[in-house]
Amino acid sequence: MSTTAPTPHVLAQVSAWRGLPGAAIAMVAVVAVAMLAPDQGYILNILMQAATYAIAVVGLVVVLGYCGQISIAQAAFMGLGAYGVALGTVDYHLNFFVALGISVSVAAALGLLLGVASLRLGGHYLAMVTISFQQILTLVLINWIPFTHGPDGVRNIARPMLFGIDLTRGNTYLGVCLCAMVLVVLAVWRLKTNRLGRAMQAVRDNELAAGTCGIDVFGTKVVAFGISALIGGIGGGFFAGGFRYISPDQFSFAESIVLLTMALLGGVQSPFGAVFGTGLLVILPEWLRFLRQVYLAVYGAAVILIMVFLPDGLWGFVDEQMRKRARPVEGKVPPLPLLAQTGGETDEVVLDVRGLAKHFGGLKALDGVDLAVRRGTVHALIGPNGSGKSTFINVVTGLYTPTAGQIFFGGRDITSLPPHQRNRAGLARTFQNIRVFRGMTVLENVMVGAERVGNDVAGDAKAVMLRALAALDFVGLRKDAHRLVGQLSYGHQRYVEIARALAGSPQTILLDEPAAGLNMTEKVEMGQLLLRLKGHGLTILIIDHDMNLVEQVADHITVLNFGRRIADGVKKDVLTNPDVIAAYLGEPRHEAA
Ligand code: ADP
Ligand code: MG
Repeated sequence: MSTTAPTPHVLAQVSAWRGLPGAAIAMVAVVAVAMLAPDQGYILNILMQAATYAIAVVGLVVVLGYCGQISIAQAAFMGLGAYGVALGTVDYHLNFFVALGISVSVAAALGLLLGVASLRLGGHYLAMVTISFQQILTLVLINWIPFTHGPDGVRNIARPMLFGIDLTRGNTYLGVCLCAMVLVVLAVWRLKTNRLGRAMQAVRDNELAAGTCGIDVFGTKVVAFGISALIGGIGGGFFAGGFRYISPDQFSFAESIVLLTMALLGGVQSPFGAVFGTGLLVILPEWLRFLRQVYLAVYGAAVILIMVFLPDGLWGFVDEQMRKRARPVEGKVPPLPLLAQTGGETDEVVLDVRGLAKHFGGLKALDGVDLAVRRGTVHALIGPNGSGKSTFINVVTGLYTPTAGQIFFGGRDITSLPPHQRNRAGLARTFQNIRVFRGMTVLENVMVGAERVGNDVAGDAKAVMLRALAALDFVGLRKDAHRLVGQLSYGHQRYVEIARALAGSPQTILLDEPAAGLNMTEKVEMGQLLLRLKGHGLTILIIDHDMNLVEQVADHITVLNFGRRIADGVKKDVLTNPDVIAAYLGEPRHEAA
């Protein structure tokens, strides 16, 4: 096996910085235009509001767009930033940037705390918690009069000086806000294509799969809330300086809804979309004012129409067009390390499961199952529908807690580890019901697998990319690297799952019915893929219904029926065992003949 060096232009084609120059130029242009804005008055105020709101909305891109967690409290975080700057400069005579730093830290800390609520709550319940947080903050701002000045708000908020440069003039300060906006946009845009951002998107698209790919799901959500709150605080801080007067009603529940609408309208997956949506929703009502009484109705209708016809927001449409133009990634990459190995069964037990039980109420899905997988073997787990096979894999990978029993992997007791730590120990899996990250491209899906903690390439973005491409080469899907994974056929999505698992260089891979739902040709191809894996000595535990496939690839077979092990041994012994024939094949073979 030659260790092919990567062709240099492979990386250039997939670099996260592609498209940056264009975006940066557009942003610089925005700032330049703003600098030409009038020094005070109505237009300046509109632009100031748009810029500072846009920052807060970009925060929502992180928590909602990337991580898929609903937050209806962004105005509260804006309020924390704004009040920090206001009270800090007015009552405590702090430097603007010092006050901003403190208030943003407080916002981030409370954001992390709110994220902790996502441990047990999701969807509607999480939304309720964020709303409550929002309401509590509003109440505090109104009622803690000695500290917050109460409903009257805070006046005469200072604008900053920076290194002796006066930033207090109207359009200079607007320039500062826009620069902050550009920096936040670029940072969040960059986040999307790095490890943390990919982890967030994986959590958004499929929490269970994210966990089994080595992602700390809870930690990732908490961090997303923290970053989002921090950015909201920055937006609020600049807002306070911009208007020099703030009051509690500017950071109420209604404002949180406005911020959410701005994000959804522009496209919550992208910071550019967020800026776009904010600009539109700040400026549109002003344009429509000439309509007098009916303007709110026209405005509302426009928003509804955009949301109905462009569900991914305005930027979602642009993104889709760009993806359609993306080409396959050309050039050679180093092959998977696995391919340098040759097979060979050993006596070493890699996965050792003892007395495993899983009860769902009265149903004993697993009832004291023992199973030992030896390194370098293909071990098949078969049995009729509902016999507990998937449950077995779910317990072994940590998605279910066992009712009883122990699981050892590589000699280590992993029974009580969370899924991501089992994956980090070298245990990968695929799912019977395909679980890919549907909002991400094929390449990004596989990169998530490659960058699991503990993999040799983890932490090196280029190496991760090359490893992912190598895994795609192995399953023959390189040509689809830039397509959204949901656009692939069922069979190819299964290959993406396998590539995702392989890219993490697992010691053992658990495949839950890899051939289910495939047509005859695809099944034959899947069989060949499994034989190639077996040839390189990967340890595999495979569940499948297709006895041809099992006969073709398995060394050992364990048979389950009603959650109990009814046979276990080398392939030919098990397949001729009369109990197995009766339970699994329905009737003895000789009778059929
Ligand atoms: P197999 O993969 O062998 O077809 P499963 O492991 O999916 O079977 O299911 C075994 C039994 O456990 C079935 O009776 C199924 O209905 C039940 N079961 C599986 N998962 C759950 C769950 N999350 N809650 C309740 N019952 C479950
Ligand atoms: Mg199953």
